[in-house]
This record gives sequence, structure tokens and C-alpha cells, in this order.
Amino acid sequence: MNPTSRSHPDSLRQSGIPRVGFVSLGCPKATVDSERILTQLRAEGYALSPDYQGADLVVVNTCGFIDAAVDESLEAIGEALDENGRVIVTGCLGARAELIRATHPQVLAVTGAHAFADVMQAVHRYLPPPDQPFANLVPPQGVKLTPSHYAYLKISEGCNHRCSFCIIPSLRGDLVSRPIGEVMAEAGRLVDSGVRELLIVAQDTSAYGLDLRYRPDFWEGRPLRTDIETLARSLGELMAWVRLHYIYPYPQVDQLIPLMADGLILPYLDMPLQHASPSILKAMRRPAATEKVLQRIEGWRRLCPELALRSTFIVGFPGETDADFQQLLAFLQEARLDRVGCFPYSAVEGAAANALPDPVPERLKQERLQRFMEVQAQISRARLAERVGRREVVLVDQVQDDCVIARSQADAPEIDGNVLIDGAWELSPGDFIEVDITGSSDHDLTAEPVTG
Ligand code: SF4
Repeated sequence: MNPTSRSHPDSLRQSGIPRVGFVSLGCPKATVDSERILTQLRAEGYALSPDYQGADLVVVNTCGFIDAAVDESLEAIGEALDENGRVIVTGCLGARAELIRATHPQVLAVTGAHAFADVMQAVHRYLPPPDQPFANLVPPQGVKLTPSHYAYLKISEGCNHRCSFCIIPSLRGDLVSRPIGEVMAEAGRLVDSGVRELLIVAQDTSAYGLDLRYRPDFWEGRPLRTDIETLARSLGELMAWVRLHYIYPYPQVDQLIPLMADGLILPYLDMPLQHASPSILKAMRRPAATEKVLQRIEGWRRLCPELALRSTFIVGFPGETDADFQQLLAFLQEARLDRVGCFPYSAVEGAAANALPDPVPERLKQERLQRFMEVQAQISRARLAERVGRREVVLVDQVQDDCVIARSQADAPEIDGNVLIDGAWELSPGDFIEVDITGSSDHDLTAEPVTG
């Protein structure tokens, strides 16, 4: 079971206060949803149980993006039913209530993604809140599932694109942005509570504000336009690293690079590109001007040489020929991205791509995946090796007896690499320190603190 609560006072256990267990699955966006539900539960006076046995009821926040995630979610629901018996399901897989009920008819209620009010209503129905809420037990920044020195900050929900392999828009709906004043207020509370790195997430971060027609809002008495550039600039005023995830390759990304060059936000872009062959990109219903992407990356690097680029790709999409795949490898060689994830295409129930002809045989998909990863491994290794000898600021994640695990500006938590510092040092998670990079491997760097 996932960690649910930082504190579980025994006094609450003894006093008949309703206790909720929580299982949080899926991506950082789902983590933010979980944190919101947990915060509300806490505010209403529920206690959070770290185990199934101590809970009166368990909420499972599911993921339903690909088949493997569906299986994992169904398994987690089954485990919660076996261990506790009273289970409410929410999250992306909630959009497929019939599947959940067919597999696990005993669940108490099923609510969908982004259905905050519905899940709270279901909890109230099956486990009423106490008369005396303990709102003072909720920290100002809310309940967080991440370590206390970094936090995900969700700026919008849903997506206006219709990539043919993706069912997110049908699960989570069209883009709905949060007003910029509200996002900035939450960011301020997080930083005040000790967060040193804000990870900005959304289905499509760069579209932020489009649905609101970039309407101005207020933060600390100042009018701010609700758009990604203004948000990034304003977040840059807070004393924290600001890292942007899930940027769609729109032209307006160009406007963010000067903010990185000026040190306002981290020189880091997580921009899923998915493929490089124009015909496959077209079949994916994605922007297909690969040449322009290469030119833009070159321009970005000229303006901000420190820029670290992360992307994800899909191989074996229906209709992908050898020539398409070669084009993808050639793109990789030219773009020299720092970090890359690659997935073999897998059909997702309800996705438009399922109707496309010419599926790629499974064996060929796996072969291409392997070749892709070999090519990228060499590039990533070379990119890391280029940093040996440099002096960089890193953020400490963990302090062990004989080693400190930190991250550089180029590394997002959980998905990128680490900077490993040998020896025992008087440091704490959340400290920023200056280091000299002394070595590199396939994924990580080694470093020594700058002393004196
Ligand atoms: S941009 Fe992302 S979330 Fe939106 S449809 Fe495409 S893959 Fe799905």
C-alpha cells in the first residue's frame, strides 16, 4: 500500500475517528489528484491509515492509460478488497466503470478522473466524516505524497489535442486551466513550507490558459495574464527550482528559452515528440514538421547552452516502415537529446489508432525498441560525459552513511539520473550545494562537493 500520511497519531486511532486508506497509482498528474483528495479528507477530520487493516475504507486512485496500467489498477483494487473489503475506486480507470464492476463487483463506488466532488461524496456516503473536523491538522501546503523538498504543481486538467494513440481527452476531457492567481498562491504556500523544487505538470503544459483566453488574474495584488510564459516568469520569482514537464512542441515554447537562459526557470524541457517521420506523426495526429523541430532545438541551444532536453517516443506504430524507423534514428543522432524514454506501441482500448492498417509485428517492435535504445544510450552517455569537469549546483535528495544522492538541474526526480557524492557529509535533503563533476556512467554522474 502506498504511503498515505506523514503522521498517524495514536490518539486518532483510539478516538473512533473514521480512517481512510489510500492507494495512489499512475503518473505525477494522478499523484496531484491523490494529494488533493487526501488534503480534503484531512481537512474534514478523517485520519489516514498507512495500512489496510487500520482503515475503515480504502480509496484506490487508478491509472488506465495503457493495458499494463489497467491490469495494475485492477490488481490493486483486488488487493484492497482482499485486505480490507470496503473499496472506492477513482481516477482514470474510473471512466471504465463497467470493466471494474465486472472484475470486482464488490467495490462500493466508482468515480472517474478529475471527479473530486464525486469521490468525496462516495466517501461521505460509506464513511461519514466526524462532527469535529481537525482542519488544524492539515499543513498549509496540503497533504503531499512526494518528499518534502519537491512537489508536483498541476496547472491544468485535460487536453485539446486528439493524438490517435491516446485516450486521455476521453478520460479527462478538454483543457481546463486553473486561474494563475490560484496556481501562484499554491506555489507560494509550497515554497513557504520548504519545497525547493516545483515540478509543473499538466496533460499539455504549454497550452496553459488557452481555454481561459489568457484572462488576467491577480496574485499578491498584481495583474497576471494566464499563460505559460507569465506563469513561468512569476514562478521564477519564488525561491525554488521550477521544472516544466509535458510541453507540447508548439512554437510558443521558444518564448520560454530566454527565461531559462536568465536562470528564472530550470534549463530543462520535457517535450514528448513521439516520432520523427512526418507520415507517422500525421497518423498520430501530431505536428509533423520534424525539420523545424531540429532547427528550433539548435536555436534553443544557442540561446541556452545548458538546456537539457527529455523526450519520449513510440516505436512500432501502425504503418511504421523501415524507412520511417531509420528517419527516427537519424533524428535521434542529430537532435542529441539528453534523456529519452521509448515505448513499443500498444493498442489502448478506445484509441483511434486501433483502426489504422498495417500493424507492426510484436517481434519487430521489440527489435526496433532495442535498436532505438542502443542508439540513444550512446548519445545519453556522451552527453553526460561532456559534463565531467564542470562545476554545477545540485539539490540533495537523500543522505546516506557513505553517500549523498543529489540531482542536477538536468535531472527530474524519478525519471532522470542522479549525481552521486561519495562519503559522509553534513547535508540534508533539500540542500543546494555546489559540486565538481568528476565522472559519468550510462545514467548518473559522480561529483565532489566544492569545499572551502
Ligand atoms: S497531447 Fe498528450 S494528453 Fe493530449 S491527446 Fe496527445 S498524448 Fe494525449
